[in-house]
Amino acid sequence: MSVTENIIRADVRSLAAYPVPDASGFVKLDAMENPYTLPAGLQDELGKRLGVLALNRYPVPTYAALKAAICDKLGVPAGFGVILGNGSDELISIVSIACAKAGAKVLAPVPGFVMYAMSAQLAGLEFIGVPLCADLSLDVDAMLAAVRAHRPAITYLAYPNNPTGNLFDADAMRALLREVGDSGVVVVDEAYQPFAGDSFMPRLAEFDNLIVMRTVSKLGLAGIRLGYMSAAAPLLKEFDKVRPPYNINVLTEATAAFMLEHSDVLDAQAAAICVERERLSAAMAALPGVAVFPSAANFILLRISRPELTGAQVFERLLERRVLVKNVGRMHALLENCLRVTVSTPSENAQFLAALESSLNFRTV
Ligand SMILES: *Cc1c(COP(=O)(O)O)cnc(C)c1O
Repeated sequence: MSVTENIIRADVRSLAAYPVPDASGFVKLDAMENPYTLPAGLQDELGKRLGVLALNRYPVPTYAALKAAICDKLGVPAGFGVILGNGSDELISIVSIACAKAGAKVLAPVPGFVMYAMSAQLAGLEFIGVPLCADLSLDVDAMLAAVRAHRPAITYLAYPNNPTGNLFDADAMRALLREVGDSGVVVVDEAYQPFAGDSFMPRLAEFDNLIVMRTVSKLGLAGIRLGYMSAAAPLLKEFDKVRPPYNINVLTEATAAFMLEHSDVLDAQAAAICVERERLSAAMAALPGVAVFPSAANFILLRISRPELTGAQVFERLLERRVLVKNVGRMHALLENCLRVTVSTPSENAQFLAALESSLNFRTV
């Protein structure tokens, strides 16, 4: 036996590595990135700020100033704090580890964000996926039944959901929060909050078991890796013990603080993306054999419904035209022939639309 076989868990060895395709030379519309960069003036100013940081020192692990700025600028209700993660991926992992008692379970609707199941597995929790309805809305009766049957320690609800893009019914989510009660936490994952128009953040005071999780990734700062979550103080205190003490590096800390001072720039970019989302949705919906799902995020789910053409074929044809989207068709039966496309700049969206049209029309490149 080799050393890997001797020491690495069998379930880890059988995992496939998280696939990140090489996108150089492509219009990259697969990862919900904000297409806009910082204005040149802000780039220079940020460079000066970062240049004088004490890189020889550890960060101060309370991150008090950054947390205060996040609470102040990003709508965390008075009396609530946040803890920070190296992306919300790390926060998901922290919640999983903190709740990983023997026999503990994780519940989430599927199709959903893949890291919920992945993180559950790595922390030794059982994952239970409850299919969405055919129209991709939350199957609230099935979710309530699953809560009663399994008493999950953690229930995830992405608001809006990835990869479907829709906001679940807020009253249905409230019913779930009540049914879970003090037997578990409900994580409302608001990764797409800048594009969503609704949030559970103001509802924190209503529920002791509610965690609201967010990230700055989709807002335009995916590269700095910063997520934050808020919940009642007793919960946050426990999660903070699991957090690696220096998990936010000084460059990220300073960049986030700087960007919060200039949040109007990111807000304007998000607003432009929302306008483009509506334009792109309408343009795609006008194409024969393309069904577009409503989106409250910076991406759009579409279904190819042509007898002679599969979603996978359209994905390949888009690749030939140097456009990279995400083929989610094999992720779940409910997503058959579906593709997910990130909303980008007017020019990249136009390139995508032209590529989609020619892919549908069987024209060769
Ligand atoms: C992108 C995404 C995240 C991960 O965000 P990071 O902060 O970049 O780790 C979390 N949840 C959902 C639903 C996402 O789509």
